[in-house]
Amino acid sequence: AKFSPEYIIRIIGLDNSGKTTILYRLKGDQSSISTVSTNGFNLETIQCMNKNLVIWDIGGHRNVRNLYRHYYPQSHALIFVVDASDHQRIDEMKDEFAEVLKCSEGVPTVLILNKQDKENAMTESFIKEQLKLDDIKDRKWFVQLTSALNSESNSSLLQWLSNNI
Ligand code: GDP
Repeated sequence: AKFSPEYIIRIIGLDNSGKTTILYRLKGDQSSISTVSTNGFNLETIQCMNKNLVIWDIGGHRNVRNLYRHYYPQSHALIFVVDASDHQRIDEMKDEFAEVLKCSEGVPTVLILNKQDKENAMTESFIKEQLKLDDIKDRKWFVQLTSALNSESNSSLLQWLSNNI
């Protein structure tokens, strides 16, 4: 078999934002090579454009996130998932995103604005302004709107990752 290099990608964000659901959908769209799933921890290897994307969903609450932050700089890309319908946790989400940016200089980052099917979803421009996306100069970044519950494709996300890692 042809050799496919491996890339480490971490899917992060607040609990309940939809990380696990998104990972499951990514797996459904592509030929998945392997799945590891234990309590609160999922690992998926997906092949895209002759690259093996090893996607880690560590999950967990604040203390777990703090622990895993040390691994962000050693990742090839980050996928930060936002629950666009969760107005109440916008400040927590902003804090978390700021922390992530601080400790992952240069790591290509995808922002998924999830739960677009919900009527109260915040707009893309509002979230971009809240997160000060246009100020980010230290990395390549990409925004994708999704509803992980619907069967829409994640192919543009995978394509962006494959092209930018
Ligand atoms: P995680 O904690 O970030 O891994 O979040 P989960 O993937 O477990 O999702 C949390 C909850 O949000 C679950 O009840 C999901 O079914 C739900 N959910 C995830 N994505 C969407 C979405 O796009 N729209 C809606 N309405 N619910 C979603």
